[in-house]
Amino acid sequence: MLTYKLFQTGHCTHNAKIALKGESSYEMKFPAMVALLKHPLKGYILFDTGYTERFYEETAKFPFSLYAKITPVYVKAEDTILAQLEKENIHAADIRYIFLSHFHADHMCGLKDFPNSVFVCSKEAFQSIKNKKGIRAAKSAYIPNLLPNDFEDRVLFIEDAKIAPVGNHTRNIISEVFQKPLYDLWGDGSCLAINLSGHAKGQFGLIFENDSKETVFLVADSVWRSTAFRENRPPNNIAYLIMDNVKEYKENFEKIVRLHKLQKEIKIIPSHCEEPFQ
Ligand SMILES: [Zn+2]
Repeated sequence: MLTYKLFQTGHCTHNAKIALKGESSYEMKFPAMVALLKHPLKGYILFDTGYTERFYEETAKFPFSLYAKITPVYVKAEDTILAQLEKENIHAADIRYIFLSHFHADHMCGLKDFPNSVFVCSKEAFQSIKNKKGIRAAKSAYIPNLLPNDFEDRVLFIEDAKIAPVGNHTRNIISEVFQKPLYDLWGDGSCLAINLSGHAKGQFGLIFENDSKETVFLVADSVWRSTAFRENRPPNNIAYLIMDNVKEYKENFEKIVRLHKLQKEIKIIPSHCEEPFQ
């Protein structure tokens, strides 16, 4: 069983009308969430690394300046996941693994702050970005300089993990709704990764049971807000311009809506919702 804690590492803003169907036009805050998990044997695991001030350095020049124009970002030195962990007396060297949901800047700004951690990500996602540079990278919201130089030597690919056998009631419902394999990261059934492509190629979510026996499902950017899956309110069509695969995005969005309807006890946590922090 795992314990976990959520951190807000700065935020960006977007027009609410574009992000959430039926919402009026105003500036909505999108926190960049990082989750810290503690596994009894594997130790500390981060889910994503959020924003750091590196975002400003790396988006100072074209073409990455386009990124900063589309999403104004607000992050201070004390907001970074490294700074917030230090406050809790957890140091970079204590983080054994970093699960990277996908290769967008708001999830990977902090990677270089953890020189000893092992990365866990999708092979499909990594292959799709690894040779991208300049405009091609910027178009995928990927900033190559945020990737540690030795990333490839320190990575474990999700797709190489064993597929979890049929499990408890909740796990079976998730498999049934998504019709996709659940990758058992540590072989003990404690952390299951599931492909949620659409927003980005090879985006993965993470499922685990916490110490209160609740199933937690970190869904990354497959939905942006909790109201979106509760009230079935996908983004506006304009938002689909930034999606890697609109068809897959819509399919996974609908599946999350359905999963919530079927099993309300599952704690579905999007990466950019203010609700968990209120
Ligand atoms: Zn994101």
